[in-house]
Amino acid sequence: MCHCLKCQKRTGSTYSVHAYYAREALTIAGERSSYTRAGDTGCFITFRFCPTCASTTDWDVEAMPDVVGIPVGLFADPSFPAPKVAIFVPHKHPWVSVPDDVPQNPGHSDGFLKAAQTTLRARRATSGPSA
Ligand SMILES: [Zn+2]
Repeated sequence: MCHCLKCQKRTGSTYSVHAYYAREALTIAGERSSYTRAGDTGCFITFRFCPTCASTTDWDVEAMPDVVGIPVGLFADPSFPAPKVAIFVPHKHPWVSVPDDVPQNPGHSDGFLKAAQTTLRARRATSGPSA
């Protein structure tokens, strides 16, 4: 679950709950619109959503090319497992509870930050020198 302010704005809620699936294990069908923005690391995130109802359907994170993010609410399944980590907890609304056994991070995990740095270095290397 992510408590960052951008997820709050994107979802229209107080946090995002999502799961990541191996890209090769998914088949996503149907018309979708998309928009891309830079995350706080500078890596891009491309969100896709239903052009009729505007529900977010999935997203790609440039720093995690092998997985696809899916909002848990899309499953409409109250038995879906609880989140495994909470990130950007300093932006958590004070009345929101995180289960006691869920680690709470102030930002991204160290592993994600390392992947983001690698991605940005690779992007700079392929785009060549800038003016
Ligand atoms: Zn977020």
